[in-house]
Amino acid sequence: MSRLRGALLAAIYRKASGRQALPGVRGLSSKTGSELKVCIIGSGPAGFYTAQHLLKYHESAVVDIYEKLPVPFGLVRFGVAPDHPEVKNVINAFTQTAHHDRCSFYGNVTVGKDLSIEELKQAYHALILTYGAEANRTLGIPGENLRGVYSARTFVGWYNGLPENKNLNPELSSETAIILGHGNVGLDVARILLSPIDLLRLGMFLQKTDIAAHALEAIAASKVKRVLLVGRRGPLQVAFTIKELREMINLPDARPLLHPSDFEGIGQIVKDLPRPRKRLTELMIKAALEKPSGNEAERRAAASKEWGLQFLRSPMEVIPGNDGKWVAGIRLSVNKLEGLGESAKFVQTEDVEDLECGLMLSSIGYKSYPIDPSVPFDHQQGIIPNNLGRVLHAPGLYCSGWVKRGPTGVIVTTMHDGFETAVSVLEDVRSGALDVSASKGGYEIMEALLKQRGIRPVSFSGWEKIDNVEVANGEKAGKPREKLLDVEEMVEVASQRR
Ligand code: FAD
Repeated sequence: MSRLRGALLAAIYRKASGRQALPGVRGLSSKTGSELKVCIIGSGPAGFYTAQHLLKYHESAVVDIYEKLPVPFGLVRFGVAPDHPEVKNVINAFTQTAHHDRCSFYGNVTVGKDLSIEELKQAYHALILTYGAEANRTLGIPGENLRGVYSARTFVGWYNGLPENKNLNPELSSETAIILGHGNVGLDVARILLSPIDLLRLGMFLQKTDIAAHALEAIAASKVKRVLLVGRRGPLQVAFTIKELREMINLPDARPLLHPSDFEGIGQIVKDLPRPRKRLTELMIKAALEKPSGNEAERRAAASKEWGLQFLRSPMEVIPGNDGKWVAGIRLSVNKLEGLGESAKFVQTEDVEDLECGLMLSSIGYKSYPIDPSVPFDHQQGIIPNNLGRVLHAPGLYCSGWVKRGPTGVIVTTMHDGFETAVSVLEDVRSGALDVSASKGGYEIMEALLKQRGIRPVSFSGWEKIDNVEVANGEKAGKPREKLLDVEEMVEVASQRR
């Protein structure tokens, strides 16, 4: 590790642990004295954290963030569950970064379509790709396209007001929903489907949620009473975390359906598990094996809804109903495990099992895709191939966030990842690996191209106008905000004089 990277990473660490940054790290400026012009593509956590770090540790870096949507913040706005408003507080830090006098935001610009990577390369010294993972992995089984089968990604987009998913209108008229996948997104979706409607309106601690009005209305009329989350492996391999599991276990008016037989033998090995996995497994075992007493027993008995975890099952086929169009169930293969612990592999047996359902959501992961043919892309892993954020064989190109390491990890993981990439850029400026000798035109050049192409970029102050309208609309409905759902309308609002 070079001395600069070591010092910067130490500074990051100290900052994260509340101690002062190392002296002497601040104040890096490009050797020639000309401005370092950086373009960031995508305004989710990866984009903002990378920008924040560059602005902090380079005295003259100018950072322009381009975003496909007219509104910033990526999955913090369109992914994080509406009943987790505290998670969205990171928006305050991102807003501070956007207000930095060397940072600009240009929304409503799709890189790869409205502007090419080659064009951006002409105008900036460094391009940092932080465009996330916007596609979903498909199941690859017959019946996947039947009506009533959705990806969790589109369902999440629907309840979070993502413009492209606003008309999803999911089928909520049957009692049983099946979610394929044992991750946090699956639990978010299960919780939203089963939450009492007042909880979605008001939030767990009356902090209110910004769930889209159309979703609130549809969920209020929903008939879904039972949600089964199906996973290919066992309790020791689930990908969700304890906070989300605890929320499900304590969800008002819902009882957990966990089969004691799924946990046979696990009690003996639990003590040897790493701490987070140990606590998570203990909680599952408690919910499955301990008979509740007192108020909890009464609560569970009176609950009108239920949810459960089905282990060791792989989807084989989505079963259509009599009309051949709508989902009526799923055929699953019964699996066994080979190996131990988190890396254990599932192996299908000859046994199959059918489960009935009228709604199916596949929550088996998000996926990145290439946005421009000139950027290397590893299709196998679904990431941009890189070394510490430096795109391989592409000087001047960097990446961070989900497109860099794959679609896993929370916002804090993405923050560290963004800082790591920023350090790589700063190291390259320092070592001369990044050519900053020529002065670059930056946004001025792009502005002319966008104008020619009839694109109307939205500035950060334009976003703040959208924000004001959303907050005002939310006030009328007693919510923190009512999101605008239409891209045209957003652009209109952003371009108003006041
Ligand atoms: P993103 O947040 O996806 O940002 C990418 C941005 O790039 C988007 O704004 C997108 O519009 C933009 N973009 C895409 N293509 C282009 C293009 N061609 N040109 C310009 N811009 C483009 N983490 C937590 O810590 N807590 C939670 O509660 C939590 N809940 C989650 C719930 C869900 C459903 C999901 C999917 C994730 C959740 N996460 C949570 C994880 C967290 O959201 C991610 O770690 C983080 O958002 C990844 O950041 P990113 O910047 O790489 O990607």
